Amino acid sequence: MSQHFDAIVIGTGQAGPSLAARFAAAGMTVAIIERHKFGGTCVNTGCIPTKTLVASAYAAHVARRGAEYGFANGGVRVDMKRVKGRKDEVSRRSNRGVEQWLRGLRNCTVIQGHARFQSSRTVVVNDQVLEADKIFINVGGRASVPAIPGIHNVPFLNNSSMMDVDFLPEHLVVVGGSYVGLEFAQMYRRFGSEVTIVEMGPRLIGREDEDISKAVREILEAEGIRIRLNAKCISLAKHDSGVGVVMECREGPPEVFGSHVLLAVGRIPNTSDLGLDRAGVATDNRGYIIVDDQLQTNVPDIWALGDCNGRGAFTHTSYNDYEIVADNLFNADHRRVSDRIQAYALYIDPPLGRCGMTDAEIRKSGRGALVAKYPMSRVSRAYEKGETQGFIKICVDAETKQILGAAILGTGGDEVIHVLLHVMYAKAPYTVIQRAMHIHPTVAEYLPTVLSKLEPFA
Ligand SMILES: Cc1cc2nc3c(=O)[nH]c(=O)nc-3n(C[C@H](O)[C@H](O)[C@H](O)COP(=O)(O)OP(=O)(O)OC[C@H]3O[C@@H](n4cnc5c(N)ncnc54)[C@H](O)[C@@H]3O)c2cc1C
Repeated sequence: MSQHFDAIVIGTGQAGPSLAARFAAAGMTVAIIERHKFGGTCVNTGCIPTKTLVASAYAAHVARRGAEYGFANGGVRVDMKRVKGRKDEVSRRSNRGVEQWLRGLRNCTVIQGHARFQSSRTVVVNDQVLEADKIFINVGGRASVPAIPGIHNVPFLNNSSMMDVDFLPEHLVVVGGSYVGLEFAQMYRRFGSEVTIVEMGPRLIGREDEDISKAVREILEAEGIRIRLNAKCISLAKHDSGVGVVMECREGPPEVFGSHVLLAVGRIPNTSDLGLDRAGVATDNRGYIIVDDQLQTNVPDIWALGDCNGRGAFTHTSYNDYEIVADNLFNADHRRVSDRIQAYALYIDPPLGRCGMTDAEIRKSGRGALVAKYPMSRVSRAYEKGETQGFIKICVDAETKQILGAAILGTGGDEVIHVLLHVMYAKAPYTVIQRAMHIHPTVAEYLPTVLSKLEPFA
């Protein structure tokens, strides 16, 4: 006998719980299923714990620079057990909050267990068959384990197992020079580890423009992080001191020895054990569920939201997926994924805030564009704070004067980028920013100055 619901939500990531709450508030019955920790990646092994750790690392870094600010601190020693304890507490608060919220919802049944499709309308969990008119998949993803020779002969860490680390690795080798890897690299350097980043590509964060990759590299190297690029053929081997990472590089010694290795080389969707074939739900060749512009799968009444649909890999893209689905279902507001503007941040210090297109994408589009770049060393808020690394870059369409893309690598960059993002959503010309009165002293007050320097792409 199956139990019938108006809706089933699989996974309690960043889209599922809000969607369940929306159904429940509309007086419909909903079952939400979670196989591991409530809140998913962001809450337990992603954004929230890493940004909490980044905050500890930042505090240690500023304390070490005490003399520059006029105080003595008698030496900074990081207590990793307490750093982890603080992180656990912040994470636990959110994890509990999600669980309590869901359990407190009228019309919502919370089930713990692994969900698998039995058909396009039924899901099995703990031998219980659930049936629903609508099914929403929010199963997220996990760290991928690449086929590196020797990988199964050595211990390695990933973003999940890093959450249990309550000691200071003597030398952390981070394989992967992209967003996740760089955040861990900088925080562990600031905690006191030796850190080496090993990246297969010719530069860090290869999806960004070259000037950003270069500036980020300089920021990390200035803190003593060693960076090995073009590390094409990597293999791992046990070594007396921990793990040896052997690589074919254009420069530098052929092997790096670390006490610990963190693999941060991409993510894969949690779709292989969902029984998608039984429901007839199509995936691409990397396992991402194929969805249309309103996040419906190829099977009627089944939607996929969040990282598992390959249309975004952020908490805010997952939450935005929820808004798109909910507005289409409940408000007859036909929102689409293609209406959203790319936006994200990299939480090294100083952070990188990004929105819209990169220079490379603009060039490829062939449109006439203008660009302005301004160093943070000339922003008064930055030098008052003693945080002058980075730059602001804004690109606009030469004809419409609308902002095409921007990068703010600098103090407050993750926040200030929203000024530009909102103007982009409003489809307003950049000149509105120049007519606004800004608060002094802020980074945002410099945006009109930056925009006054627009010139054609070189
Ligand atoms: C180290 C790291 C740092 C990050 N930092 C940021 C950041 O600063 N900002 C940002 O925007 N994003 C960040 N992200 C990305 C962000 O965490 C994810 O994009 C976000 O969590 C969206 O996930 P989701 O909603 O797709 O699902 P998830 O949060 O992954 O949740 C999916 C849930 O589904 C459950 N599940 C899976 N399969 C089943 C099943 N068969 N049955 C039942 N339950 C199942 C899982 O247990 C999980 O709880 C970071 C990621 C990592 C790894």
